[in-house]
Amino acid sequence: MSCLFCKIIDGSIPSTRVYEDEHCTAFADIHPQAPVHVLVVPRKHIGSLAEGVTEDITLFGHLLGAVTEIARQKGLTNGYRTVINTGDDGGQTVAHLHLHLLGGRAMHWPPG
Ligand code: AMP
Ligand code: ZN
Repeated sequence: MSCLFCKIIDGSIPSTRVYEDEHCTAFADIHPQAPVHVLVVPRKHIGSLAEGVTEDITLFGHLLGAVTEIARQKGLTNGYRTVINTGDDGGQTVAHLHLHLLGGRAMHWPPG
């Protein structure tokens, strides 16, 4: 599998890990857009949210639970933003499902 995030998960490409469990891993984004910018990725390769199947729904909930845990660990008591970019129109650039956790500054709306 030549997927970038699969290689980060298996350790063949280095990353700064902030969280790991049986179903997912999380690491610092290499181009942070906020003081805290973490990517939460399932260990299972799923290309995008659009490629999820019914059996993945429990895993999707697990990923959100990991976001909650990491946000607590990072002390984001004033709030944070969670983003999933999907496909070309969604601005997805890495074809392995990932949740962005952004925090440590006030966010703006609407997004670009
Ligand atoms: P997206 O545009 O939603 O697909 O997000 C992909 C994210 O992966 C971007 O925020 C990139 O900065 C980040 N990224 C790309 N390569 C790496 C890497 N080697 N380590 C950590 N983050 C990365
Ligand atoms: Zn992958």
